[in-house]
Amino acid sequence: MALPRLIPRTQRATTLVVASVLLVALLVAAAQLYARTHAAAVQEVNYTELRAVVDAGQGASLVVDGETLVVKRADGTQAQAVVTDAYAQQEIIRVFNQNRQTIEFRSLKPSALSNALTWIVVFFGLGVLGFVCWRVYASIGGGGGEFRLTDASGTQDVSFADVAGVDEAKNELSETIEFLRDPARFGRLGGRAPRGILLSGPPGTGKTLLARAAANEADVPFLSVSGSSFQEKFAGLGAARVRRLFKQARELSPCVVFIDEIDALGRRRGRGGDSASADQDQTLNQLLIEMDGFAQTQGVVVIASTNRPDILDQALTRPGRFDREITVNLADVRGREAILRVHARKLTLAPDLELGWIARGTPGFSGADLANLLNEAAIFATRDGSDAVRRGHVEYARDKILMGVERRGFLMDEDERYATAVHEAGHVAVGLAARHGDPIHKVSILPRGRALGVTQSLPERDRLMKKREYLEDQVAILLGGRAAEMLLLDTMTAGASNDIERAVEMARAMVSEYGMSPLGPIHLGKPEDPHSQALLDRIEHATGDIINAQLKRACEVVDSSREEIARLVAGLMDRDTLEADEIKECFGIEVEAAA
Ligand code: ADP
Ligand code: ZN
Repeated sequence: MALPRLIPRTQRATTLVVASVLLVALLVAAAQLYARTHAAAVQEVNYTELRAVVDAGQGASLVVDGETLVVKRADGTQAQAVVTDAYAQQEIIRVFNQNRQTIEFRSLKPSALSNALTWIVVFFGLGVLGFVCWRVYASIGGGGGEFRLTDASGTQDVSFADVAGVDEAKNELSETIEFLRDPARFGRLGGRAPRGILLSGPPGTGKTLLARAAANEADVPFLSVSGSSFQEKFAGLGAARVRRLFKQARELSPCVVFIDEIDALGRRRGRGGDSASADQDQTLNQLLIEMDGFAQTQGVVVIASTNRPDILDQALTRPGRFDREITVNLADVRGREAILRVHARKLTLAPDLELGWIARGTPGFSGADLANLLNEAAIFATRDGSDAVRRGHVEYARDKILMGVERRGFLMDEDERYATAVHEAGHVAVGLAARHGDPIHKVSILPRGRALGVTQSLPERDRLMKKREYLEDQVAILLGGRAAEMLLLDTMTAGASNDIERAVEMARAMVSEYGMSPLGPIHLGKPEDPHSQALLDRIEHATGDIINAQLKRACEVVDSSREEIARLVAGLMDRDTLEADEIKECFGIEVEAAA
């Protein structure tokens, strides 16, 4: 079956519209400029001055253009005044009459120039109107190509072998694939056909990839659409789109319909009274109706993905709808290695570059991050003129992903570099003193992204459980920069604002989510539920207590390691970036033999 591969339809049209708007604006501006310069010889005066010109006998001819009187002098210059009073106009006209000079009356008819302007405006308006109509038409369904359709027999398409580290999810999907291969047989055997599957998990973990691969394994078309595309500017259109989506799906069946980010349309209904949420409710209702509507044997499986399963409307997960939830989590170290293997297939790796080593150094990386890491590493390798991807390229790529790109050419003056070095050294000192934190990996005062400096720590292993001590250490480390500013520079910088934001967020979560404060295990419920102001106040208070305690702790550490910090600052001023071993040296910590 050869299905058309449909391209996004709006981009080119948008460009066209933008271009024509610019062109028209340019034309209007030019026309006005023309009008201005050519009217330069006209002198705007008041009635008295105009009278003076006339009385002095300078007037050669007169133009009466509605309320505007234009007196032309013999030398070609003109003086004009607005004279609303008919009697006053009469006065001037009389002088010209007496001298038997030309008087010209003009009706209030627009000039050629303003004529042209009017036409431009009219055409422009029509254009805009046409564009709007066309957009509405396209979104109602005339445009076609609104849902992305992938040919089942597509060659570059993914199979289960391309999705790694998510074996459980693959197992759960295998039944669905059986069903799609032969929906009728499935019904005869009495199996309850899967209808809706919810893939939930953080972004970039391969949910889309899984759904696509499932369709491919079953050799059926894959119809994909993003949940946010149902948020329409015009009420009712979202529901109409849902209807059309399922109409198309029924025509293509057996097939897989994939709704990415279903939370955009599947939020709990009946929240606010505004019209946008009312429209969203209508769209969601339509989705529920459609899902209830198709028969067992119809062979349409809807797979939806979300990273916020908690905010979905409960009606979505009732039996017969998205009644199967598959959680797709971040991969562990073995999963990461498997994902890296998938993406390394196209690359030439140096013999000493082990994927296991990369996997160990990338806890918390999603599948998408890992793909990106290898891609960046390959780019560095190419730029290096290297024939293979080496460790150094991977390390460079990882730093870039974790800390942002170095902003070379952005020069800080020496004072700023010094202040940044002290700030970062504060993070390092507290990080080294904190026994539950992650090892410090690198510190740098080369500006990257929006940050002036970076202290980078890397977990030694995946942290599945975060203990209270670990969280407290994190807060202290984040505040270490500010502590150093206060004690060693006797000032504060705005550069600490991001640190503070993260520290407060973490402390607040400790209080309001993890029950790690004197308030005990409390729970705030959903963000849209009403909370008592008294409880919120107590939470803020307890959060502040954690922050103050950790800032005090950070200050104590900084105070007791002034010498070490001074050494680190000197190193940073000298070399910009220090690696783990150099940092340990400054702090007099024994450097273990390289593992
Ligand atoms: P999600 O839908 O969960 O946000 P995607 O499926 O869009 O994530 O993943 C984006 C890209 O990341 C994929 O195209 C693929 O290149 C890579 N990727 C993510 N997860 C995996 C995985 N488990 N195995 C292989 N590649 C993956
Ligand atoms: Zn900082």
